[in-house]
Amino acid sequence: MERKNKLVIGLFSLTGCEGCYFAILDLTKEFIALGNKVEIKNCRLFEEDVHLEDEKYDVAFIEGSPLTTANRETVKRIRRNSKLVVALGACSCLGGIYHIKEYHDKAKIFNHVYHKDVGIENFDVQTLEQLIKVDHKIPGCPVNGREFMRFVYGLLVGKKIKSVQNPVCYECQMRGYECLLQKGQVCLGPITFGGCEAICLKSKQGCWGCRGLVKDAEVSNLIKKLREKYSDKEITKYLEVFGIKEQINNL
Ligand code: SF4
Ligand code: SF4
Ligand code: SF4
Repeated sequence: MERKNKLVIGLFSLTGCEGCYFAILDLTKEFIALGNKVEIKNCRLFEEDVHLEDEKYDVAFIEGSPLTTANRETVKRIRRNSKLVVALGACSCLGGIYHIKEYHDKAKIFNHVYHKDVGIENFDVQTLEQLIKVDHKIPGCPVNGREFMRFVYGLLVGKKIKSVQNPVCYECQMRGYECLLQKGQVCLGPITFGGCEAICLKSKQGCWGCRGLVKDAEVSNLIKKLREKYSDKEITKYLEVFGIKEQINNL
């Protein structure tokens, strides 16, 4: 039976690859089942060029990095019209892989990518939280679709779902995956927020920290371990991919 007073959800995208929404849509059955409980608006994957940021939302999810003037204005309008705002994915929560340019010559990187001035702004990378109040974060590149679903179902039953508080190692070891760090490979699992079900380790790929720094991360212990085999320059490269380096600097 159709539920009255559906939860109105906005799915907004800034500058990003839309991979987070693909990760959610991949859960096809669960996503369809949501259909009679929520009203979904403004998803760029369903409809091109939608701009419904001035409508009212119970919860607005914002994927992508606020990299352009238009992005920055849009998020302020979304905030004004939404009871809850959730930062979705590494781009929104941490600034995303765009962070790499912050550690190098920004103009040089820009010219390398675009070759000439094509009218694209080259602002500093900011997180969503640096621009507006954010009520909850679901990190990851992409997000774990099941974490998104748990959060939405939590809202539907009036329960606030807390984020996972364990490092990736916890989920990795629980699943019995082989420890790559012990084998001498780079893995940032000990200092990274869990909740991704250690998906990279399942494919024997080290964690690069897309979910950000876990609370009370033992960063110095991990660096000491990595220095047994890698130079500081090599270690830094991994810490820069998702902006973990900046989070460490701000500790
Ligand atoms: S967090 Fe990753 S998957 Fe999500 S929009 Fe950004 S780049 Fe794409
Ligand atoms: S492989 Fe990485 S995530 Fe898994 S236990 Fe080792 S250090 Fe932790
Ligand atoms: S293992 Fe690390 S890099 Fe991979 S999804 Fe999880 S947090 Fe992100």
